[in-house]
Amino acid sequence: MTDQYTLTDPTTLYSDITTTAQSQDGPGLDADLKAKADLGEDTYRGLGRLIGRKALITGGDSGIGAATAIAFAREGADVAISYLPEEEEDAVRIAGLITAAGQKALTLPGDLKDPAYCRDLVAQAVEGLGGLDILVNNAGKQQSVESLADISDEQFDETFKTNVYAMFWITKAALPHLRPGSTIINTSSIQAYSPSETLVDYASTKATINTFSKALAQQLAPKGIRVNVVAPGPIWTPLQTAGGQPTEALPTFGENTPLGRAGQPAELAPAYVFLASAESSYVTGETLNVNGGMPTP
Ligand code: NAD
Ligand code: MG
Repeated sequence: MTDQYTLTDPTTLYSDITTTAQSQDGPGLDADLKAKADLGEDTYRGLGRLIGRKALITGGDSGIGAATAIAFAREGADVAISYLPEEEEDAVRIAGLITAAGQKALTLPGDLKDPAYCRDLVAQAVEGLGGLDILVNNAGKQQSVESLADISDEQFDETFKTNVYAMFWITKAALPHLRPGSTIINTSSIQAYSPSETLVDYASTKATINTFSKALAQQLAPKGIRVNVVAPGPIWTPLQTAGGQPTEALPTFGENTPLGRAGQPAELAPAYVFLASAESSYVTGETLNVNGGMPTP
């Protein structure tokens, strides 16, 4: 059987998944991606690294968050996922995979731009799971725009609300529930250090996420709560086909990385598992870059 421990050449892995030009409306669906991304459905093998843990993952319906949700469940965690109501189809499929792993799944749709929903999301996760000890702030908005003049005030506001404010609202609401040993993992990006000219607003939010996380890690370390970051490179997800990249850039998406290809969500999940589990007990305020080899500061 092939799994995430099988020795493979990382340059040729996933050469069967071609990122062709395509576009989706709204947040986009994994269900509509052509070709399908690998979320680890057939390959992620758990080893009991998160037995008994209770996790909330924002944007856990698709892409990186969904691969992480599958991995967490197969490692023994109960998992609540948040997503937008129009992503129900993807969310139901992921909830099914969590349940198939023998774990509890909670689906909690809503709009993270609304602080009241963010607070309610945490309350529902805590109530439904019977506590919380892993928080993954992963949801994100990314819209590529060529000129600053064409970034609307609305887009700028929505990108910051989704990527930064929601992380603040959710983390603040979660903290009273997090016991020592709990972990917070935020999703940044290579864009934080190596921004694209067409992602001025988005890249700025990712730099903010890095600094927010490092500051909070200092504050929470004495309380025994760790805060870390995963910074993905180019990963094949609906985010990229729903306006994250110009459509014409998709066929060569990821080819400029040292490994020469786009990454798959399944390749991100082990980073989140490591940072969530007690294996990383002496790691806090750290950023784990999973980006195909692009140099980072
Ligand atoms: P994705 O589209 O599968 O996941 C993003 C999720 O964010 C969506 O599924 C949606 O549920 C959620 N979301 C967006 N706006 C929301 C809102 N207003 N309310 C509630 N939920 C909302 O794409 P992904 O690439 O897996 O993205 C996950 C994270 O990874 C994001 O933070 C993204 O910035 C980051 N990231 C992605 C890449 C990449 O190349 N795909 C690279 C670097 C960082
Ligand atoms: Mg989605």
